[in-house]
Amino acid sequence: MFAFLAALFQFTAPASAVEPIKISKEDTALDLTGAVQIMHDQGDSVQVSTAPGADGIVRRIEVQADKNKRSSGNWAAFAIANPTDEQIDRLIVAPHYRLVKSGFVWPDLGSQRISSITPSEGFALDRQVSPDADVFLITINPGSVITLVAEMASPNLPQLYLWEPDAYKDTINAYTLYRGILLGISGLLALFLTILFVVRGTSLFPAAAALAWAVLAYICVDFGFWNKLIAITPGNEQMWRAGTEVALAASFLIFLFTYLNLNRWHDHFSYGAVAWVLGLMMLSGVAIFDPPVAAGIARISFALTVICGIVIIGILSLRSYDRAIMLIPTWLIIAIWMTGAWLTVSGRLDNDIVQPALGGGLVLIVLLIGFTVMQHAFAGGVLRVGLFSDMERQALAVIGSGDIVWDWDVPRDRVVTTPDISTYLGTAASSLLGPVRNWLPVMHGDDRDRFRTTLDAILENRRGRIHQTFRLRANDGHYHWYHLRARPVIGSDGEIVRCVGTLNNVTEQKKAEERLLHDAVHDNLTGLPNRELFLDRLANVMSMSYNESRLKPTVFVIDIDRFKQVNDSLGMSAGDTILLTISRRLFRLMKPQDTLSRLSSDQFGLILASESDPAKVAAFAEALRQAIRAPISYAKREIVLTASVGLLTWTANAANAEDMIKDAELAMYQAKRFGGDRIEPFRPSFRAIGSDKLQLESDLRRAIERKEITIAYQPIVNLQDGTIAGFEALMRWEHPRRGPISPSEFIPIAENSGLIVPLGLFAMQQSANDLFNWQENLSRPNLFVSVNLSSTQLIRQDLLSDVRAILSRTHVTKGTLKLELTESVLMENPEQSAHMLNELRSMGVGLSLDDFGTGYSSLSYLTRFPIDMIKIDRSFVKGDKPQKTTLLRSIIRMAQDLELKVVAEGVESEQDAMQLREMGCEYVQSFLFGQPMSADSAAQLLNGQSVE
Ligand code: C2E
Ligand code: CA
Ligand code: CA
Repeated sequence: MFAFLAALFQFTAPASAVEPIKISKEDTALDLTGAVQIMHDQGDSVQVSTAPGADGIVRRIEVQADKNKRSSGNWAAFAIANPTDEQIDRLIVAPHYRLVKSGFVWPDLGSQRISSITPSEGFALDRQVSPDADVFLITINPGSVITLVAEMASPNLPQLYLWEPDAYKDTINAYTLYRGILLGISGLLALFLTILFVVRGTSLFPAAAALAWAVLAYICVDFGFWNKLIAITPGNEQMWRAGTEVALAASFLIFLFTYLNLNRWHDHFSYGAVAWVLGLMMLSGVAIFDPPVAAGIARISFALTVICGIVIIGILSLRSYDRAIMLIPTWLIIAIWMTGAWLTVSGRLDNDIVQPALGGGLVLIVLLIGFTVMQHAFAGGVLRVGLFSDMERQALAVIGSGDIVWDWDVPRDRVVTTPDISTYLGTAASSLLGPVRNWLPVMHGDDRDRFRTTLDAILENRRGRIHQTFRLRANDGHYHWYHLRARPVIGSDGEIVRCVGTLNNVTEQKKAEERLLHDAVHDNLTGLPNRELFLDRLANVMSMSYNESRLKPTVFVIDIDRFKQVNDSLGMSAGDTILLTISRRLFRLMKPQDTLSRLSSDQFGLILASESDPAKVAAFAEALRQAIRAPISYAKREIVLTASVGLLTWTANAANAEDMIKDAELAMYQAKRFGGDRIEPFRPSFRAIGSDKLQLESDLRRAIERKEITIAYQPIVNLQDGTIAGFEALMRWEHPRRGPISPSEFIPIAENSGLIVPLGLFAMQQSANDLFNWQENLSRPNLFVSVNLSSTQLIRQDLLSDVRAILSRTHVTKGTLKLELTESVLMENPEQSAHMLNELRSMGVGLSLDDFGTGYSSLSYLTRFPIDMIKIDRSFVKGDKPQKTTLLRSIIRMAQDLELKVVAEGVESEQDAMQLREMGCEYVQSFLFGQPMSADSAAQLLNGQSVE
């Protein structure tokens, strides 16, 4: 302030002299900014050439800085001329801060501009009180030209105005009103949004409220309202300004993030945004030390937020995210505001109203955001705000659950459902409202009585609960399952006034339950019953069979041979397709009483209840085999599969379903063992093949040397005269610990282990020896002995040499040592068998076909083998079925045509024997005609007969 005139020089005006600005009485505001000459780094004093006065003389003055303060060394000089003849009072005004031209990065955040102004004549100017500008009063005499030298407090002087004092006061007042209104609105907004946050508690409101507070703070500082609240020293102003800009930038970012729920879209957004906000928070610390840096970064951050916002809102709007769409208008205003602000700070937009206008713009933006946010908050209707009563809560819960309220007004007998149930059933509106009996006609017949009795019970007892599932018929004829849960409401007189509860459509659950039940007992590939259901059905059929003699079910276990290869070479899905094809083929063979099931991956089970006759069962088994054998087309390939079939027909002593299936499985495994593509009826001997098979096998190895094995002879009797024509040699094993073991049990073990070869050889040798004895000693040269032969023996080439050796040692009559083979043994390898049989025949061995009728039973192929005798299986002979005679007659006739001798096995009565004789059957072998016996007993028997 105390600068003073030090010297006065007199010389002609230099080029650097300041140009005076002429003022007039009418001017209210004159912009001096352009006419000010700024001088930097001048030190404590400056020399200035004055504008030429009225006398035309340019003087040179020197101005000294205030000694009490450190001089900035920056000076400004300007000149004012009063050409009028009146004295004029003017205010020189230099605002501390101007947004205009403040700069985008490292902005000028304002400060005191002028410390003092020294005129070329007179005393230093009086400083007027003003919080946000340096204001000096100057009085200019008529006709004078004054050069003024200002000591600057900062390097820049953004603006310098010459104001008419009254006009200045008016303008300030006008702006004060405007600012007051804006501050009021913005303060209310901030308060309102904060209160909403407290009430509603969603994250939207704190974000919006924070933004509102930041804007309020910003305009408080900008409008110079801040220093009315806090005493701000001139230097601190910058800090506050930078601080509010940082707060603004941060709150904008937070708002954008929370409003758009960006954390929901991707975690990266959250991390990025949190880092960004943290950065801005640290920036508020920077604002204390270096406000321009903090403000610069805040402005960049703000610009980035707006640009990111545009991109994100664009993308999310395209995805029809409603919040993004609703933010579009607000963000558009923000973008426009930012452009305006940028034009301003960079100086492209320069006028006096732009700064307060931008402040107003901010308030407008917060207002818009407030609206947008509130729209969301209240979009759910009035109920979403505030508290509601328990009643309302329960009502809402029922609506939310989708249940129907079922309300029966008992005294008036009126049922009301909300919503009306008839809309769900498609029946006429309100058709089910009214008396409760209206419900009965649409209710499923099976559910009516239960429904009625439950309601009656409730009315009678005046308590209880309705918990009922029933079916209601919809208009389209389908039934819908509903579950009714209700309880009575008792009136003051103790009577029921209402029954209220909910009605719930449970059709889906019911269907799912049924599906689960079905899936639990059905195979999901073929839809056939699974093992559990199969067992259950079998148990049912079995229990029925005890009471009904005609019902004799047969269980089949069908296993596809080498199915693993199909899966391995063609893939699982091909395997599935093929299994499906097979299951359909099998299914077509069945009658309604029969059951087909898939027991495991490639194993089917079948209960044949529709047939009980063994021949029909055999035919069915053959049909099964053929059905599987038929080529299957898959992916332009023909696949031929075979199956091993085990079967077991029910007998009165069958234990249980489980065991029946196990036995049928054993038979199936036996069929597999024989090479597959085969039907094997169960025989008890199969049971041995598993369990203690190994022990028996090792015992059997030593059986021959320990002489545990013997041969029993069962007579084969001539029907004509009752004499013994020969014997069948049957192997006997007297086990040291177990006692006698049936050949049905140990022969399969011997066959599987290869022990059948030495055993069979022993049987042949022993039989040949005994036969030779009898032929020689008892003079029965035509007596024959038939020895059983297994398939394992037949395929061995050694058989021929063995037999040849036996025959050479024991000279039995040609053709009297016979070998018995079953059809299945022959059919296992027909070519090889035919060859072997021919060789044996040429050696003079008789050949007998055993168990005829249980296998293929086709006599036509028998011509291929050189056999001389057939033994009709006892299953054909015993019993008294009507077709029996016809069948036997035709078999015997055919045998005669082929010149084969016929033995009937298992004849149970004399009557049958007579009948067989009439038919032309020559021999019989059965317990009736002679039990298997030792060689000695046989000799005695023969002896007795030869005596006769
Ligand atoms: P198979 O060849 O059919 O022999 C006849 C079986 O029927 C014998 O049972 C015999 O005792 C029995 N049988 C005879 N008459 C009657 C009758 O009126 N009613 C009934 N229910 N059964 C009768 P076994 O001795 O238990 O022999 C069973 C099977 O063992 C034989 O059946 C045969 O296949 C096999 N087998 C026995 N000995 C030998 C042998 O030395 N070698 C071979 N490879 N197998 C043998
Ligand atoms: Ca036999
Ligand atoms: Ca037999």
